[in-house]
Amino acid sequence: MSATDRASHAPFVVTGARVFDGERSLDGVDVLVEDGRVAALVRGAGTEGRETVDGTGATLLPGLIDAHTHPTGDALALALLFGVTTELDMFTVPERLGDQRTRAAARDDLADIRSASTGATVLGGHPSQLIGLSFREQFPVVSGPADAARFVRERVAEGADFIKLLIDDGTATGHPSPTLTEETARIVVATAHEAGLLAVAHATSRQNTLAAVRAGADGLMHVFMDRPPDEETTARIRDAGVFVVPTLVTMGSMAGDLTGRSVADDPRARPLIPSGWHANLCRCWQFGGPGSLRNARDVTAALHRAGVPLLAGTDAADVGVLGTAHGVSLHQELRLLVECGLTPAEALAAATSVPADRFRLPDRGRIAPGRQADLLLVDDDPVTDITRTLSIREVWRRGRRLDRAAPGG
Ligand SMILES: [Zn+2]
Repeated sequence: MSATDRASHAPFVVTGARVFDGERSLDGVDVLVEDGRVAALVRGAGTEGRETVDGTGATLLPGLIDAHTHPTGDALALALLFGVTTELDMFTVPERLGDQRTRAAARDDLADIRSASTGATVLGGHPSQLIGLSFREQFPVVSGPADAARFVRERVAEGADFIKLLIDDGTATGHPSPTLTEETARIVVATAHEAGLLAVAHATSRQNTLAAVRAGADGLMHVFMDRPPDEETTARIRDAGVFVVPTLVTMGSMAGDLTGRSVADDPRARPLIPSGWHANLCRCWQFGGPGSLRNARDVTAALHRAGVPLLAGTDAADVGVLGTAHGVSLHQELRLLVECGLTPAEALAAATSVPADRFRLPDRGRIAPGRQADLLLVDDDPVTDITRTLSIREVWRRGRRLDRAAPGG
């Protein structure tokens, strides 16, 4: 190990900060970090032999987890700049996955990644419309029920951390498209479960959502937005025990109702956002169709009231996939979740402990002994004012402080 490596992994202690541990706020505890992990939470820790980070007036949070993204290029560097220490990739192609994984494993100036690899869809089905924009060429697809298990086993063999399936007949955006049948979806889910993996589903309309729930999906990676919530659908989602990643920033953009301009032009964020991503944040799609941000928000609020676990996710992808950018959009999503009725603490849990628990990442998502020291220090208290999450003082991945003035790429 080089001298630089030793120095950057040197033990340190954060003193004087309020600590949000992933579920609740703790006052008066110091957080000791050793060997890239949280070593202890103690009152009045001795600072002898350790670097001390004065957290007075600030809150220490677990690094944020964005539960729905599609990282390419510089995405994981941009994410980490905004305190997102892990991205869950919900659709990619194998060569891109290998590249992002290798870099994230080797470097502490990039967010970490877990991935579905390529999601199960049909020829011409969502997201085939992004071939030429996000994907260079046709990706593997499922031809029918007899082909579904083969598709999933190939994803397992290439190292998928979970399996994604896409059920989207185009209802929400008014662009009819072919999609998986329920029979095929059931086989995809069952094969994922046989392999010990979660199966999570893309659906944006109520009917497609109900089909995903009937197929046995463990999680829904969007809320539906073609209809307002109704009691029966909410109850079915709750009774099935599935979690939901609303992705309000993307649903709002797809409906033509929302851009990311509020965070793009925030003076705390603006200097850190490359121009292409800034332009991306300031635009949205105009698909038409019955989908609306209003429906997406009302569905999210209804699910929350019913006790359905919600996870924060953005669906940030590439420049050209409008309305979002890696990292910064998660801060906008947290605000939208609070507007849907989550307390700020619940919204922060939706971006830390809840995705860690649901996606089986026991090494992160909380500030607790033994957990990876993926940490975020922000001014003031986001548990009383969620907009403070953007007032970032420091970010650490695996106990290594990010130089936000000279980020990775
Ligand atoms: Zn997505």
